[in-house]
Amino acid sequence: MKFDRTVSTTCPYCGVGCQIDLNIKEGRIISAKASEGKAPNFGRLCVKGRFGTDYTHHPTRLTKPLIRKDLDKEKREPCGMEGFREASWDEALDMAADRISRTFLQSGSSAFGTFCCAKATNEDNYLFQKFVRSVLKTNNIDHCARLCHAASVAGLQKALGSAAMSNSIAEMKDLDLFIVTGSNTTETHPVISTYLKEAVVKNNARLIVIDPRKIEMANFAILHIQHKPGTDVAVYQAMAHVIVRDKLYSRDFIDRRTEGFEQYSASLDACTPQWAEKITGVTADKIEQAARLYGEAEKAAFYWGMGISQSVHGTDNTLSIANLALMCGHLGKPGTGVNPLRGQNNVQGCSDSGGLPNIYPGYQNVADEESALKFEKAWGTDLNRKPGLTTLEMSDAIGEGIISDFIIMGENPLMSEPDLNKAREHLSKLKNMIVIDIFLNETGQYADVILPAAAFSEKNGTFTNSDRRVQLVRKALDPPGEAREDWQIISELAKRVGRRIGQDFSSEFNFSRADEIWDEMAELVPAFGGISHERIEREDGIHWPCPDKSHRGSPYLFSDSFPRGKGKFHELKLTNLSEQPDDDFPYILSTGRVLYHWHGGTMTRRSVLNDISPRPFVEIHPDDARKENLDSDSTVRVSSRRGSIELDIRISDRSPTGVLFIPIHFAEAAVNELTRDIRDASAKIPDYKICAVKIEKG
Ligand code: SF4
Repeated sequence: MKFDRTVSTTCPYCGVGCQIDLNIKEGRIISAKASEGKAPNFGRLCVKGRFGTDYTHHPTRLTKPLIRKDLDKEKREPCGMEGFREASWDEALDMAADRISRTFLQSGSSAFGTFCCAKATNEDNYLFQKFVRSVLKTNNIDHCARLCHAASVAGLQKALGSAAMSNSIAEMKDLDLFIVTGSNTTETHPVISTYLKEAVVKNNARLIVIDPRKIEMANFAILHIQHKPGTDVAVYQAMAHVIVRDKLYSRDFIDRRTEGFEQYSASLDACTPQWAEKITGVTADKIEQAARLYGEAEKAAFYWGMGISQSVHGTDNTLSIANLALMCGHLGKPGTGVNPLRGQNNVQGCSDSGGLPNIYPGYQNVADEESALKFEKAWGTDLNRKPGLTTLEMSDAIGEGIISDFIIMGENPLMSEPDLNKAREHLSKLKNMIVIDIFLNETGQYADVILPAAAFSEKNGTFTNSDRRVQLVRKALDPPGEAREDWQIISELAKRVGRRIGQDFSSEFNFSRADEIWDEMAELVPAFGGISHERIEREDGIHWPCPDKSHRGSPYLFSDSFPRGKGKFHELKLTNLSEQPDDDFPYILSTGRVLYHWHGGTMTRRSVLNDISPRPFVEIHPDDARKENLDSDSTVRVSSRRGSIELDIRISDRSPTGVLFIPIHFAEAAVNELTRDIRDASAKIPDYKICAVKIEKG
């Protein structure tokens, strides 16, 4: 089909950040293809980027501001569109500002909780956190990074002082050996998986997969370690034991670049492969083999995903990987490193832009006086030094009546939080709830005021992909109806709230274009100093840190030093805090993604992709299916101590016996009805990958 024009932009789905060309005809996207010759995907695209952008034209897009009809009911209940009435922008913004300012004046800043959005642009997120910090005077701001890579961040910050991917996607072609752990890369980061598999097939790189499931990447592996879920630390500690025992470490790197090795290595004495075999179910021989391959490799890299981080032991999982990289010197050079693969298109950028409760943009600590003074001067107002609450701490505070007002931009906690019964109960207690979104999702159904936003194809700005590459998002279409770009909505709200609380923020939120917002952020963030929209346009993306205009960007990190100075080894104790199977709930449930869908399904389930993958399912091993007398036509009920869902069955030996797998995308069988809200102590991330369940015929 012929089209009127083509606009190049960045895929709205995963952290690979593929460059896509949107073909536009008569105001609609009629097709999409990979932009030729552009990094990071160089003409490759997965099914989501190729066919999944049609959600932007879905008839259920929000096109007008909405106000709840039964405002101020004692206990709020969810409602569909029939529970809202349409309003003008002025009425909706005034109502939101009235309610927010009343709470501010009566209860103070601690009454607010806010979520920014890993799918919105850096500019949207920068302005949102500026509103929260400078107008509402709170650091109660977080986003879905808390529920995905918070443990990777906590662990890598402790070990290295920086939590981003250390190396770039382009370096995947130079790998010697790499370990994929807790990442079903083929389905979660499809284009990256093609590079990794190419490294094996064309460049003779060796791959070790460490994952309880038989993921597709395992077909390319020299070794597949299928450990019992939750025993990752034991695998890595035993590998470290072998590397120390056989002196496969890099003495030079340890002496020059690290601290704490002697104490750490002494703590490994008992962590023999035989010890690990009893805990993990993996033979000692396999662990020895993995350790030798990693220790003897010239260049070796780790890639991981939620299987490592969404765990009550997530920080320890990350630290055990960092310990291995530090002892072998697999850091600070191309084709090596520690690489947590970021999930959402802009989860890296949302964190970089200050969408976290303890940091300003550029990871400058809110409790640090010098940083606070810098931002106070720039924003012309006083700021709160107290770090804010994390995602689930905010949910707790709502349940306890401490937070009464919730402002959410583009997130859907009623699909993403664990133990959804509890999450719903908490939201129902709010006094005020303002939502900015493109669809009325499960969370928006609890809102008082809903402000319709522009989708990725309807705005300008930047996304930062998993390897720290800042890329342009280009406007291809006007938003539908009266929808507006997030930063425009936030600017208006900030000014109106400011007027009501006696502060004039009109010049602080006076932007006419997204690049003006970027420029303000870049002045405050040293790592962004050399990046501008105009330069990204010219160079097709720039890896931060890029401190000045003559700097070429940083595809890999740590060549000379770590942000914390020396890399630090951490002793680890093996614990097992996950819910264990028992007679009543005899299976371990693990959660994850499938190729065709994205997170809570808000976008992909409104796209043609839903025709290919329309129904929720549970994956079960054939032996377990036989034991439970289930066949492939069965509909089953899976229950935990917290809830119960009904769904199709998929019999497959991808999951080991005793383990069930359910994707996270299906609201009609939301797996988080079952998951348990127990959190990693440092990262505050819940244990999504393990809880005890039973399965019965539905
Ligand atoms: Fe989009 Fe990720 Fe697929 Fe690329 S790999 S097209 S960024 S979903």
